[in-house]
Amino acid sequence: MMSGSTKIYFWKGVFWISLYLLFSFLPLIVVMVGFEPSVTNFWREFSIALGFVGLTMLCLQFIITARFRTVAAPFGLDMILQYHKYISLVAFGAILFHPILLFWVDPENLELLNVLKAPFRAQMAVTSTILLFIIIVISVYRKEFNIDYETWKTLHWMLAVLIIITAALHVFNVEYYLSANWKRMFWGFIIAISLFLLFYIRVLKPAMLIGRKYVVRKVVEHKGEAWSVQFEPVNHSGFLFMPGQFGWLTLGNSPFQIEEHPFSFSSSSEDINIIEMTIKALGDYTGNISKVKPGDVAHIEGPYGVFSPDRFPDSKGYIMLAGGVGITPMMSMIRTFADRKENRPLILIYANNTFEDIIFFNELEKIRKDLKITIVHTLAEPPQDWNGEEGFIDADLLKKYLPEGANDYTYFICGPGPMMDASHKALMDNGVKTGNIEMEVFDLV
Ligand SMILES: Cc1cc2nc3c(=O)[nH]c(=O)nc-3n(C[C@H](O)[C@H](O)[C@H](O)COP(=O)(O)OP(=O)(O)OC[C@H]3O[C@@H](n4cnc5c(N)ncnc54)[C@H](O)[C@@H]3O)c2cc1C
Repeated sequence: MMSGSTKIYFWKGVFWISLYLLFSFLPLIVVMVGFEPSVTNFWREFSIALGFVGLTMLCLQFIITARFRTVAAPFGLDMILQYHKYISLVAFGAILFHPILLFWVDPENLELLNVLKAPFRAQMAVTSTILLFIIIVISVYRKEFNIDYETWKTLHWMLAVLIIITAALHVFNVEYYLSANWKRMFWGFIIAISLFLLFYIRVLKPAMLIGRKYVVRKVVEHKGEAWSVQFEPVNHSGFLFMPGQFGWLTLGNSPFQIEEHPFSFSSSSEDINIIEMTIKALGDYTGNISKVKPGDVAHIEGPYGVFSPDRFPDSKGYIMLAGGVGITPMMSMIRTFADRKENRPLILIYANNTFEDIIFFNELEKIRKDLKITIVHTLAEPPQDWNGEEGFIDADLLKKYLPEGANDYTYFICGPGPMMDASHKALMDNGVKTGNIEMEVFDLV
């Protein structure tokens, strides 16, 4: 049985998916109005339809990635970006089959591949398809090619714009299908909206953050190379968030910088005067987090994410499995529970390599007194005098701590990929249904 708020998220999700499907086919329907497809050349017409649907899907990618909070709310940004990734492959398939079918119907069309002699519309089609291939390859193999995230992001946007422009030049130069003025205007509008969305993301959205600055109030160093940075809104009231959600952080005076990073909030959602993010030094950006000092200016865009107990208000209790810095969203949940004087049962199982890696150890010890919470630390490399659990999270460990009626609880998992997979499996081995398990992956691409 779905709770009231889960039902709302479900129906919102159904609404957005229906709208997506409608918009995927609407432009094709518009092309078809008043047009009599040739019966003898079914495959030719089908190939044209594939081209139009593929292009529409590419245009819709700009909406998907625009980070509209209402669209992201039912699914979560990670799910949306995964969808963006896979639907690109579907769009690429549709676009690739468009010429393949044309070549199959009439092999003379192969001449269009000779870009030096081919008409402009064919040159644009070939360019667009090659760029699409490049964007997919560098996105799928970014890590293998060692392309850093910021370079990839800039390249991705530039290629995306070029793909849309060259595809539009192809479509508008095959006058036959868009001969009516209103059809040209309709398609022109779709292309313009796609390009406008890029302007919205890069210029308008950051511009909306002007006047919504945050200033660093405090920086706390933890064990395990992690720092908690507390931000205070400057002359505005901040924003409300659910415990477990995250925001995009831009450090510095200008919100227009290319470099913005997602971090979970680790503070209580009951106090909107302070937003805390706890960041582990792992790469070039996070490696410099220790240099942030009180008084520094920042911009935070959010909240995003669906990884929150507030979406499951009817749960009998909450069980959190964290690994390493994956404790941050759980810390927000636990601090919020403490502020709300939550009296439902809570369990935190926190896995780390060594004792030195445990972030928030002392605060968690203190908070035990304020909540009905069981806190279990497990260490892969425990010290000699350790009397907690040892090893990784597995089915045997969970068996010791999971309550009766395990499926009446909601489970949250966050940590490194292998830890998350192992914890999910261990829960399922203990009879927990996958529908009761929420996961937050700290990697969007
Ligand atoms: C929803 C979410 C919540 C997160 N919460 C936390 C948290 O609370 N604490 C914490 O320490 N880390 C968190 N992370 C991870 C954090 O965002 C990355 O570790 C950080 O962006 C890496 O940047 P870097 O330049 O230091 O590392 P790099 O070594 O340059 O990058 C490592 C990987 O991080 C990803 N990444 C890098 N830059 C960006 C970017 N600008 N935007 C998106 N992804 C990027 C890429 O996949 C990259 O391969 C979270 C990530 C996500 C998606």
